[in-house]
Amino acid sequence: MEKLIYLDNAATTAVKPEVFEAMKPYFLENYSNPNSVYTFAQQGKKALDEAREAIAALIGAKANEIYFTGGGSESDNWAVKGIAEASASKGKHMITTKIEHHALLHTCEYLEKKGCEVTYLDVDEYGMVRLDELEQAIRPDTVLISIMFANNEIGTVEPVREIGAIAKKHGIPFHTDAVQAFGHLPLNVDEMNIDMLSASAHKFHGPKGVGFLYIRNGVKPATLIHGGAQERARRAGTSNVPGIVGMAEAARLAVRDMEENSRKISEIRNHLIERVLNEIPFSRLNGHREQRLANNVNFCFRFIEGESLLIMLDQKGICASSGSACTSGSLDPSHVLLAIGLPHEIAHGSLRLSLSEKNTMEEADYVADCLKTIVERLRSMSPLYEDFVKNQKEI
Ligand SMILES: *Cc1c(COP(=O)(O)O)cnc(C)c1O
Repeated sequence: MEKLIYLDNAATTAVKPEVFEAMKPYFLENYSNPNSVYTFAQQGKKALDEAREAIAALIGAKANEIYFTGGGSESDNWAVKGIAEASASKGKHMITTKIEHHALLHTCEYLEKKGCEVTYLDVDEYGMVRLDELEQAIRPDTVLISIMFANNEIGTVEPVREIGAIAKKHGIPFHTDAVQAFGHLPLNVDEMNIDMLSASAHKFHGPKGVGFLYIRNGVKPATLIHGGAQERARRAGTSNVPGIVGMAEAARLAVRDMEENSRKISEIRNHLIERVLNEIPFSRLNGHREQRLANNVNFCFRFIEGESLLIMLDQKGICASSGSACTSGSLDPSHVLLAIGLPHEIAHGSLRLSLSEKNTMEEADYVADCLKTIVERLRSMSPLYEDFVKNQKEI
């Protein structure tokens, strides 16, 4: 392939070479099962302990509050199903939002079939949860509030600190899906009153299939995976030592370089936003202008199908996505764009570009140039656009 401009870092990221190097010895040399008794297993056990300590320190948690999992979806499933089961005698009501990742939403829908009641909060036009609506939704039988830290489609960062304070005031555990936030935004579980937090290594330049769930001591979701005594007997299965080592190294690098990278990435992001909004008619930016992930851009282009846009960008070597990766390929418009109030026909023409520190201003310019020509071309073939122009002239 000639040119590759990767702008789908919200779907997954490249493993950093340092991360890969850190993992390698745990495949080839120290491949022991860390639960074994012989000395050879000590290295693996030590690596696990260190990774747990390091990750805990990055979010202001204790090492024994970090549970390694198989990624973001598993962490979300565990938090929500685990609390539903463990709190069944206390209540069966949960509060979440309409813009969560499917790992959360589909878990809630599953629990509804099992007799739970779930309130899906609306969000405003920028994708922000309204705190008064959250407070009004709380009932005596509410057992969990689960609200994402930052949205994976439109990049909006939720008022997590305020949400945590409300949850604490009412004595309700607060879970946050921080898969897009961890390693990208500063976060502290005590300052923000977070009781459970999901993260996933492959969203911050670590390996796929590994993540963690922070569970505050005293909060007790039921076990999701039964078996061996790993993860304090709460998540069975032989530890993914290379993956966990890689995740810890990726986390360390992400947090170390967070400020610098955020600054650099948001400059490129802002340039891309300015160019597109100024140069492409009938385009709009979705999500919040300020309370937004540094690496996220999400546009709607009227009169255009997101899918055709993706195919033509692909021909230019640009990897992007429309809606979320899980829904591409289906004809349903994004639930997030519908939740911020966009009509179906506009929500269909959405484009998400998610950057990393490896992207450059030159790439942003190339993408903006390509978008201009592609959008123009697609509109010239669009009967909707033709009608629109005709009507404009008649007026
Ligand atoms: C990617 C993502 C997930 C799923 O994480 P996996 O590790 O791929 O299972 C969950 N929530 C959000 C917000 C995500 O972006």
